[in-house]
Amino acid sequence: SSAGLSSYRVLVVGAPGVGKSSLVGQFMTSEYLHAYDTSIDVEHDVTDDESGERSVCVLLAGEESEITFLDAPPDHVITEGCAHGYCVVYSTADRSSFSEAERRLQILWAAGHTSRRAVILVGNKADLARSRAVPTDEGKNLATSYECKFIETSVGINHNVDELLVGLLTQIRLKQQHA
Ligand code: GDP
Repeated sequence: SSAGLSSYRVLVVGAPGVGKSSLVGQFMTSEYLHAYDTSIDVEHDVTDDESGERSVCVLLAGEESEITFLDAPPDHVITEGCAHGYCVVYSTADRSSFSEAERRLQILWAAGHTSRRAVILVGNKADLARSRAVPTDEGKNLATSYECKFIETSVGINHNVDELLVGLLTQIRLKQQHA
């Protein structure tokens, strides 16, 4: 609502159960980034509302930005509409979710989004070491082949969640400059 505040929309996509909602929930508590939930100020609740929308304000490099996360339903046409960024999430413990992520990257790549917008491949549940089904290198290689960023996270042990938020906003700002 303040003048000059940049607002960005990010679509969070991936197979059910990979931790999309958990990741967004964890972003809301990111003290390190002075992130705070803006949903309280507006009409919808902090917890999942019907639209699956949650907003957060992030202070990064002396500049504040608002990011609205949209939890896209599985059949959502992800290339439709205006999103500044995409988090394509899979579970490192679930092989089929990795295939699903590849399918999503393919769609984004074919639409030209991977070069013009912030796209990050996210391998979540990295804490589940004993049930790992997707090696880190495979995730890295997939991201490289689709020209997007890659990070492994764990909401469970709060590993790399702040880093994902920073990387996402950094990429969005970079792509905006070159738009
Ligand atoms: P969504 O369907 O993609 O939104 O997935 P949810 O956020 O609802 O998470 C599905 C389940 O995975 C929940 O029981 C979470 O607690 C669990 N979960 C999410 N992230 C992690 C993680 O990093 N590690 C572990 N071990 N469990 C997680």
